[in-house]
Amino acid sequence: MSTGSLSPATYPTDAITVCCDRCRRVGRYKRRTLVQRYGTDAAMPDVLNEITACERNDRLSVERCEAYYAELRALL
Ligand SMILES: [Zn+2]
Repeated sequence: MSTGSLSPATYPTDAITVCCDRCRRVGRYKRRTLVQRYGTDAAMPDVLNEITACERNDRLSVERCEAYYAELRALL
C-alpha cells in the first residue's frame, strides 16, 4: 500500500501519529481534525509536509526532517 494513495479520510486508524527520529519528537493527531484541516482529498505525504514544516520553520536549513506516520510504518 502506498502512502500516496491515502488521505486523512482513508487513513487506517482514528489516531494519527507523526514521529521523527531525527527531531526526536512525536505528534499525535485525530483523523477527524486532519480531515477538517486538510480535506478528504489531501494526500498523506502532503499533510506530513504541512505538519512538519510549521513545526520546523526555524530549522529548515538544518538537517532535513524525516518524519513519518507511525501507524503506516507498523503496517509495512
Ligand atoms: Zn524531523
